[in-house]
This record gives sequence, C-alpha cells and structure tokens, in this order.
Amino acid sequence: MHLICFSIIVLTNLTLGCFTISSKLHLFNKLDGTYDCVTPSEMTRIPGFQFTYQKQDNCKLYPKEKVAIALNLFYLYWYAEFGDRADAVLKNLNNLIIEYRVEKMSFKNGYRLNGEFVAEGTAIGLAHGKGLIQVYAPEGMEMYETSFVHELVHVSINASSGRNDGDPDHEGDKYPGWTSRHTQLIVEVNEALQSILELKHGSKDQEQTDSR
Ligand SMILES: [Zn+2]
Repeated sequence: MHLICFSIIVLTNLTLGCFTISSKLHLFNKLDGTYDCVTPSEMTRIPGFQFTYQKQDNCKLYPKEKVAIALNLFYLYWYAEFGDRADAVLKNLNNLIIEYRVEKMSFKNGYRLNGEFVAEGTAIGLAHGKGLIQVYAPEGMEMYETSFVHELVHVSINASSGRNDGDPDHEGDKYPGWTSRHTQLIVEVNEALQSILELKHGSKDQEQTDSR
C-alpha cells in the first residue's frame, strides 16, 4: 500500500515536472513561434486572444502571460461595470495591436483627462481607432505604471459606441462616452494587476529563500 502511494506521488511529481518543463520550452504554444519575439519589429501573439499582438522595436516586450492577465483583468472589470452588449469590447480585445515605445510620443490636437484641449504636446500613450494602442514603456516601468489600461478604455469606448472615436476628451463634454467611472476603472484594474504580479514575485522570493 505504501509503495502504491509512493508510486502515485512520484508519478504526480513527474507529471507536474513535465508540465513545468513543457511550459518553459513553450511546447504548448503550437510550436509556430508566433508567441516569441525573434526579429526586431515583428509582431508576436498574446495567448488566449485571437488576433492580438504586441510589438516593440527591440523585442523588449512584457511577457505575453502578463499581457494576457492584464487584458483578462481589464475585461472582467469592464464587464462588471459596463456590461458588453453584442460582445463588442471582447471582440475588439481579440483584434488589437499593442505597441511599446521607449520615447514619449508627440501629438497634435489632444485632450487632458479633464477635457482641456491641448494643441500640441507629448503623450505617454495613444489610441488609434479601436485597433492600435501605443504605450510609452521605458525599461523598468511596470505594466500597471504605463498608460496601457487607459488606452484600453479608449479602444473599448470606440468599439462599444460604434461612433468610431474613443472619446478623445475623456471626462470633457465635447465627446460623449468617458465618465469618472472609466477613470476610476483604470485605477482599479492597475491596482489589481499590481497585486497579482507582486503575489507572483512574492512566491518566487520565498522559493529562493527555501533553496538556500
Ligand atoms: Zn486618453
């Protein structure tokens, strides 16, 4: 009986071990290579999303798993708060290009969060239509510190409103769509994302301590 239990434990550990190794080798990623950046400027896929890609000129991307977590979290919060008639927001998150920039981006005719018009300025993020977001992400900046979630709100307003604008003036009253609830949602999603990512770091630190 003990031997059987022992065998089961060994087998379980071996199986789990294989899973761990497989995930490190990306054996579950269909072996098509589209999830990993090899050549600078190429677009790589986000797991769990149909046509969602990320790119950065030097392959300095956030890990695809982190991006997938962030997109899922965003959708959970969005759905809970605003719903998603006809799945327009979800479909759009499955058709998105995320581009990271190491330099801030210049823009013309933009708006601050309070709706104030800015003729010319420098942005830490831009949303183009509903299919492309550009996020200023210099080395060392965590995802939840960037404008990633903010830009997701723009493209999601665009996708769900059918007006083909993402409410560029935010809480201003020139364009409809963005409310203080949207601003609050960004804070909540970023806080949740930070907690999840720090939890992961926490367990890693623990493992390192144990192995010493
Ligand atoms: Zn904005």
